[in-house]
Amino acid sequence: MLSTTPRTTLGRKKHRAVTDRSALHAVLDEGLICHLGVVRDGVPLVLPTGYGRDGDTLYLHGSTGASSLRTAADLEVCVTVTLLDGIVYSRSVNNHSMNYRSAVIFGTAKPVVEPEAKMHGLKVLTDHLAPGSWEHAREVNAKEFAAVSVLALDLAEASVKMRAEGPDDEPEDRDADAAWAGVLPVRTVFGEPEPSADLSPGWEVPAHVRGRE
Ligand SMILES: Cc1cc2nc3c(=O)[nH]c(=O)nc-3n(C[C@H](O)[C@H](O)[C@H](O)COP(=O)(O)OP(=O)(O)OC[C@H]3O[C@@H](n4cnc5c(N)ncnc54)[C@H](O)[C@@H]3O)c2cc1C
Repeated sequence: MLSTTPRTTLGRKKHRAVTDRSALHAVLDEGLICHLGVVRDGVPLVLPTGYGRDGDTLYLHGSTGASSLRTAADLEVCVTVTLLDGIVYSRSVNNHSMNYRSAVIFGTAKPVVEPEAKMHGLKVLTDHLAPGSWEHAREVNAKEFAAVSVLALDLAEASVKMRAEGPDDEPEDRDADAAWAGVLPVRTVFGEPEPSADLSPGWEVPAHVRGRE
């Protein structure tokens, strides 16, 4: 079960809370980017960032030069992941909505410095964004390893909210039936692989790229 702390308790539409920890894992595993929120120089800063999950640890990484990651180290951060599942068309404009699954995580982002643990974090990130690439692509060299920072965030304090419903029209709008109502599903799909122009001839698109769903 997910924790319910004051700041992870839904204020509105409480029935949309999902408290099963496996739902958090599912949102994180399906999403591809998160938004990392930090307070930098007293001002909120929210940046799109890659991530990966191993158990109840979320890994973030970036250049050692990225000030947002430097700011996040050892400080409280807020990370969100959102999956948009559909646009909900209602009979009234006011009742239009979205179907979604989203996660909000609070915690202290811990720098991962021990080499083996840091390499593991990089593998988790790679396996999430580009499964199969850790085995297929050239391994990280010492210079690259030194130039990247990895942060680990415990998934102890998190909430999941979801909407998976049709339109919620007022009875009088339903009765009047004056507009189309329903859901237009939204999906993220992988397109046709586009080989790099500088690949030598003879390369087939590898299965871990071609077969990705
Ligand atoms: C899909 C996606 C995935 C990404 N994954 C990673 C990742 O895994 N690791 C990583 O380090 N970075 C990632 N980035 C880039 C990340 O968003 C930051 O740009 C980067 O980390 C540099 O951050 P910084 O702290 O140096 O920001 P700075 O460059 O110091 O920010 C200064 C200002 O630049 C602007 N800015 C910075 N980044 C963005 C942005 N992405 N979009 C619009 N304006 C911006 C903002 O106004 C910000 O206040 C990703 C971006 C995208 C879109």
